[in-house]
Amino acid sequence: EFETAIKVVVVGNGAVGKSSMIQRYCKGIFTKDYKKTIGVDFLERQIDSPGPKRNNVQQSAQACVLAFSTVDRESFEAVESWKKKVEDEVGEIGMVIVQNKIDLIDDAVVEPSLIILICLEINILQKEAENLAKRLRLRFYRTSVKDNLNVEEVFRYLSEKYLEQ
Ligand code: GDP
Repeated sequence: EFETAIKVVVVGNGAVGKSSMIQRYCKGIFTKDYKKTIGVDFLERQIDSPGPKRNNVQQSAQACVLAFSTVDRESFEAVESWKKKVEDEVGEIGMVIVQNKIDLIDDAVVEPSLIILICLEINILQKEAENLAKRLRLRFYRTSVKDNLNVEEVFRYLSEKYLEQ
């Protein structure tokens, strides 16, 4: 087994859970590097791979999480522009769309009639997110950083995708 480090960039609107995701995944071993031009969080974590050791001379991100929040439609609408920003900066890299805070779906402590509306809205958003992922040809994950749901899977997928190249 060889060790490889890949640099993953997590982007998305404010408060979608980027820092929390990085913290969750890296369990404390994270550096919050402010890249002024696009304002993103960087993380590095060693992964084991059966492939040959690679040189990581390249400084820029090698994979990217495009994150939005279940309870913030605007953050979903910004996903495509985040993708463009990253591609303008580092070129084509492995990417994934992540809908975070899915724990909030069951969390609606409001009137029953409002719950139905919220559920409808969330269903529509989910469908739209699936369509966007299809159109952009990206894998789509739903996560809850709070409940530690699917976070590992996102980064594992990006690592595997990177090593396949
Ligand atoms: P960032 O601005 O994208 O880095 O977002 P933060 O990581 O600072 O998170 C914004 C807020 O959302 C914080 O209060 C987090 O605790 C909260 N948060 C992050 N992920 C989740 C999640 O999966 N579920 C819930 N309910 N809250 C979350």
